[in-house]
Amino acid sequence: MGAAISIFRLFTYRPCGHELLVRVLRPAASNAVQGALDDADRAADSATERLRTEWERDGLAPECPERHTSDLVAEMQEAPVGEALYGPGGRRLGVWAAATEYGSPWMVLGTAPTEAEFWQQVREDPDLLGLGPLAPAELHHVHFLTDEDRDEDA
Ligand SMILES: [Zn+2]
Repeated sequence: MGAAISIFRLFTYRPCGHELLVRVLRPAASNAVQGALDDADRAADSATERLRTEWERDGLAPECPERHTSDLVAEMQEAPVGEALYGPGGRRLGVWAAATEYGSPWMVLGTAPTEAEFWQQVREDPDLLGLGPLAPAELHHVHFLTDEDRDEDA
């Protein structure tokens, strides 16, 4: 059984540079059953799309009249650096992002007061080192949303 994991996806919006970071759950699925894995991927993808669509309509559109196009610039499927990305969404955060030797869109993400502290925490974490992070990290000012921010619908 593959355990449930959190997936982080960072999108940038042209032409203005708005940035959206979402955290969604990829449900547990049997590794032995390809259909179950596909279903888990689809659940994570549709949660991502729902958050994106809602934010574009309710967050971005009222704030900015431009016509936007978006790109996926980062994805991470390991536990990130810092506490903030484990907490609730619906807020703005400064997030460090470092490319990896596995290429786009795989990046190492996290929150830390400085880039030096970000790298210090990456170096102390074998799972993050296994992602092959490459310096430097860039600071992104993101809107952070998660698929657990559903209070108003409860
Ligand atoms: Zn804009």
